[in-house]
Amino acid sequence: MSKPSNLPIQPTLRFYGDLVDLVSQPISDNRIIERSLSEPTSVKDLIEGCGVPHTEVDFILADDKPVDFSYKITGNERISVYPFFISLEIPKSERLQISKPDELLFLADVNLGKLAKHLRLAGFDTAYKNDATDSEIIKQMQKENRILLTRDRKLLMRNAVKIGYLPRSDDSTEQLEEVFKRFDLFDEIQPYSRCVNCNGMLERVSKESVMDQLEPLTKKYFDEFSQCPDCGQVYWKGSHRNRLDSRLERLLKL
Ligand SMILES: [Zn+2]
Repeated sequence: MSKPSNLPIQPTLRFYGDLVDLVSQPISDNRIIERSLSEPTSVKDLIEGCGVPHTEVDFILADDKPVDFSYKITGNERISVYPFFISLEIPKSERLQISKPDELLFLADVNLGKLAKHLRLAGFDTAYKNDATDSEIIKQMQKENRILLTRDRKLLMRNAVKIGYLPRSDDSTEQLEEVFKRFDLFDEIQPYSRCVNCNGMLERVSKESVMDQLEPLTKKYFDEFSQCPDCGQVYWKGSHRNRLDSRLERLLKL
């Protein structure tokens, strides 16, 4: 007598909101994705196997019951996957993402240099190195408890990443707006408080102390200056102005 074969594991998934755009699997007209698994699999792996990093998922239902990422799929569950919605009316305990971390420390991947500069210009502590390897990034993220910003989905899918965000736009100003929305930063913007080049906190300095570094017109029209104690860069209101596009100025309320 042959042994009865194991029951097949054939869950179905449905993604909601802007998560649909991230799905790398073909989606049928009824928006259902069918999967066939050879062994019990965590819902995190099932979702990420469809191309959607766990950092982008705020709420999961398995057969209408809220579950977390560790939930094991063992049968034919219907999985519903929801993105982060500011207005989603579900209990905090069932949400999988932190809407606003206590410490707003960011870490931008090598592919997001412009976004890193914009975040610093807005006053947010943002670590960035243009030649960091993936393992250096993960190490720094863990050590300094930073929010990972990257367009590398595989990096976001790592278990070590607790809070992260995948900017959807190619445009750095739109990426900044996305990050402001995701982490509710609009009331925390403090332009000209941080060095765009190195992330140092700017200090107010007297005009006399930086006089020899100023162009004639800057000397004439500006009296308030700050300087980065780490790299020496001098700033004044308007020091970025002619280099910023108007959308970014509006976003930062400059
Ligand atoms: Zn600096």
